[in-house]
Amino acid sequence: MFSSVLDTPVEFIKGVGPTRADVLKKELGLFTYQDLLSHYPFRYIDRTKYFKINQINSDSQYIQIIGRVISKKVIGEKRAKRIVAVFKDDTGLMELVWFQSLKWVDENITVGLAYVAFGKPNFFNGTFSISHPEMELYQNKPTGRGNLTLQPVYNSTEKLKKFNLDSKGLQRLIAGLLDLVIPQVVENLPQYILDKYQLPSKKMALLNIHFPKNQQDLNAAERRLKFEELFFIQLQLLNNKHLRALKFKGVNFDKVGEKVNRFYKEFLPFELTNAQKRVIKEIRLDTQRGVQMNRLVQGDVGSGKTAVALMSMLLANDNGYQACMMAPTEILARQHYASITELVTDDLVRVAILTGNSKKKERTILHKQLESGEIDILIGTHALIEDKVQFKNLGLVVIDEQHRFGVEQRAKLWRKSFIPPHILVMTATPIPRTLAMTLYGDLDVSVIDELPAGRKPIETRHLFEGQRMRMFGFMKQEIAKGRQVYVVYPLIKESEKLDLLHLEAGIEQMSYQFPRPDYQMSIVHGQMPNADKQFEMQQFIDGKSQIMVATTVIEVGVNVPNASVMVIENAERFGLSQLHQLRGRVGRGAEQSFCILMSGNKLSKEGKVRLETMVRTNNGFEISEIDLQLRGPGDITGTQQSGVLDLKLADLATDQVILQEARNTVIQILEDDMRLEKPENALLKAYIKKLERGISFDKIS
Ligand code: ADP
Ligand code: MG
Repeated sequence: MFSSVLDTPVEFIKGVGPTRADVLKKELGLFTYQDLLSHYPFRYIDRTKYFKINQINSDSQYIQIIGRVISKKVIGEKRAKRIVAVFKDDTGLMELVWFQSLKWVDENITVGLAYVAFGKPNFFNGTFSISHPEMELYQNKPTGRGNLTLQPVYNSTEKLKKFNLDSKGLQRLIAGLLDLVIPQVVENLPQYILDKYQLPSKKMALLNIHFPKNQQDLNAAERRLKFEELFFIQLQLLNNKHLRALKFKGVNFDKVGEKVNRFYKEFLPFELTNAQKRVIKEIRLDTQRGVQMNRLVQGDVGSGKTAVALMSMLLANDNGYQACMMAPTEILARQHYASITELVTDDLVRVAILTGNSKKKERTILHKQLESGEIDILIGTHALIEDKVQFKNLGLVVIDEQHRFGVEQRAKLWRKSFIPPHILVMTATPIPRTLAMTLYGDLDVSVIDELPAGRKPIETRHLFEGQRMRMFGFMKQEIAKGRQVYVVYPLIKESEKLDLLHLEAGIEQMSYQFPRPDYQMSIVHGQMPNADKQFEMQQFIDGKSQIMVATTVIEVGVNVPNASVMVIENAERFGLSQLHQLRGRVGRGAEQSFCILMSGNKLSKEGKVRLETMVRTNNGFEISEIDLQLRGPGDITGTQQSGVLDLKLADLATDQVILQEARNTVIQILEDDMRLEKPENALLKAYIKKLERGISFDKIS
């Protein structure tokens, strides 16, 4: 009935049935046998170790203790009603407490008998206690599979617990399922790869990830499953890349012509940095190989990505092709348009802008000019790909701020011309290497790792609430020098109401400190109508206001070179990459710039690391690595990326070595057997075939 027994729906497992199957689906997204087997434990408890009561301390994690229940009574009323048992071993006394399932406790826990109590101790009212301990009569053998040493602990939910599917329940389910299907589990990695990296078989790995007999077996199982997970992602990415190269010709930019040369000699107001030169060279080489370029340019804020983009677009123009550049927001598109038209003149190239707000009449004219080839460079927002825009011959697409652009959106662009245009993706969010390899593993990556010379590093300070007057004083001093200041407040969904109150209070205090007409303040937050936002931003951009108070809606790439101070309120509540992005709004002009991180006195450990990191370094790549360690990959990109980051076991922060091994292996395999035709790669071919039956973005063209 099902192509593999592992595709069988969970409801067919003995003791599951439709109701519990439904809860498993809704709560944990577990549909099939396969899903359940991949619901790996999130930790293990060493059940061979027993603790004495006098060994418990405030750092104790989950532990088990052998003792005797010497009394048991019901205390409190209503919601505080609970059963408290006194538990004793030869070293001391402690308490066991239940707030729920009181009836069960009443009937099953017997005063005078010895139990193994298991749980995490708390220190409360002068004694240690465990709430809702797992209890087993001491004589009993441990439950589960045979002699369990490392007990798996599974993620469960309140709802699942109601259906008897707590960690223990899931453990039973998975144990039963393993017994049933293990003989039918087939290997999915070629034997030569298992041999090369000394990885256990799929069968062994599945058994040992759930019920390891010892730490070594567990480690090997983990390594194998992580490798497998990363390997297949890389296979998919790199195979796509190869297919693209095979299928799609790229337009050739083999000529450096008048536009590039004139721009370089007559227009460019500065000397390019070595990093900019290197990246432009990489783009040059990429665009004359006859295949489509898919390149990601990573460069910290202010590293000069616009010049690189512009020169690439001029290169396209020189070869008879049009280019376009897309930004994630209207304001950014307008800024790009402004900075590019400032760098070039009409007699060099014709540049136009198209956004969602473009008037219908302009739009119609624009469409004609694009089709006739009168326009060389089009700058715009997403509207560009949604719009009925037809180019005469689009040769290059520059996408600014990749992290808001999915794979599918990239693919849509290809419909804009017969031969797919070269694609250059620019991101100012430095991404750790492992993350880049996973998210953009099908792209080539260039890094602009150098700031233009003479740029003064931003000085960052961390001030506490008590030093607020100093901060205001500093703002006044800088404004007196003619500078502008950003003040940013957090506005985080979960605590939006409170945040808005803080914002209002902050604005009130600042209006008092910075009264009109001596000072002008622009205020921008998410609740405002778009037009008002635009207006306020423009006031600040034009230098008509000295202070910009904003919530995080403040645009990622806004460029106001005269702004030299960034004050971040409640800085401890922002993530590292966000702090770094915000700080990047200043330090864009010739003046010394400053970033002031305001925080309350109480800081979490993590909050402290974040602020210290910000004070210590300006290096976006270093910051992104620390961010990855602290938060994990999902949060860094800010969006759930097309399932690529839905890793079950591998951790991009800690599994760099395995990732590199997996990627290298795939690279070698594809170099050696590009179409995966060799018999030893049959399993890999099968995997790709299966993928192709699903949606693959190579289909869209
Ligand atoms: P980002 O990489 O953040 O997009 P931009 O392209 O906006 O950076 O450049 C930031 C500022 O640095 C701009 O004002 C730009 O004119 C200037 N700039 C770029 N490259 C150089 C360079 N090689 N030398 C001096 N200034 C530069
Ligand atoms: Mg930029």
